[in-house]
Amino acid sequence: MEALNLSPEEWQAWAKKRGFAPFVGKQVYEWLYVKNNLDPESYTNLSKEKKQALLEDFSWKGWEIEAHLKSQDLSEKILLKTLDNHLIEMVLMPYKNRTTLCISSQVGCRIGCTFCQTGKMGLKRSLTSGEILYQIILANQLGESRVTNIVFMGMGEPLDNYDEVVKACRTMIDHKGLSLAQSRVTVSTSGLIPEINKLGHDVPVRLAISLHSAIDEKRSAMMPINRKYPLADLKKALENYPAPSRYGITFEYVLIEGENDSIKDAKALVKFLHGIKAKVNLIPINHFPGIEMRPSTAESIRAFQLYLTERSIPAPVRYSKGTDVSGGCGQLAAKRESEINADPRVLHRQRRAAHREKIREKSKKSDNEHLAHSGSSQA
Ligand code: SF4
Repeated sequence: MEALNLSPEEWQAWAKKRGFAPFVGKQVYEWLYVKNNLDPESYTNLSKEKKQALLEDFSWKGWEIEAHLKSQDLSEKILLKTLDNHLIEMVLMPYKNRTTLCISSQVGCRIGCTFCQTGKMGLKRSLTSGEILYQIILANQLGESRVTNIVFMGMGEPLDNYDEVVKACRTMIDHKGLSLAQSRVTVSTSGLIPEINKLGHDVPVRLAISLHSAIDEKRSAMMPINRKYPLADLKKALENYPAPSRYGITFEYVLIEGENDSIKDAKALVKFLHGIKAKVNLIPINHFPGIEMRPSTAESIRAFQLYLTERSIPAPVRYSKGTDVSGGCGQLAAKRESEINADPRVLHRQRRAAHREKIREKSKKSDNEHLAHSGSSQA
């Protein structure tokens, strides 16, 4: 596992330090990323001495799979336990001729967006580049077909772990490494401007922005990062991002009933996107226990989408994958351990029953208050 932290140059330096020819480093790199093999003892083109050196110098222990849940929509949610006992998540989404893997870059997150389960955990630690790449190798080993697309939309703010994320992305798009197309690796950020300004120059990957509102006041309430990096500054950074003109920038917009789904919100969004080649993914919020927010109604979603598409902004509605298996970012890791292996559909029914009970209690309370009030007025 530790071995995945090394770049091709670092592998060559390791080989040199060990007194081997530099191509030994290249051979190991190929076993790791082309063959996705993490067992040095099975590296047939290496001598016993070299295999021994690999075993002595690195730890090869992998993570435990704590839960592997398959959704009715074919996506798979995999909960992994790191060697220091943290839980992180990844989601595998097969679709026709592509397989997208949503990966995590941190354990928890310190950005604290109000609608996000991971944000509620706070930041425990950042993942190393090797731990980021390990998720892809594991998915390649577990899945029926190789991962073709990567999105950094799992746990964590990738640009808050900049150096490790950039290092991992380089191996992803290296044609001697995981060999993924540049256009198929997407880093999604809440809007860390200094890092956005560097990213496209350091590694040519696609950029996605978690926007969720184009009105400063509202965005700051949902995403505290907006107080530090307000929309006008974010827009300037995006205008300068060296995105390939064919793709532009993707914006994620979670639709929350009564919060950010009015035509006034859509108008502000169109104004913000003016001059940027953009696609907006509209995502009705995935409700989870502990938040009051609800997804927008079908009518509001349609009206919001129409407002954008009539102004030539592509705006597909995307439903979170695997909602029956806690598909939203951080939802599975945040569950109590006792829940992990229970049937998610049973849990869903239990939560709905609890929600109905809460509503009943609320209305009982307000009836009592009303009675007490009318009693006191009469007195
Ligand atoms: S939405 Fe992303 S940036 Fe915001 S708290 Fe969640 S993981 Fe962090």
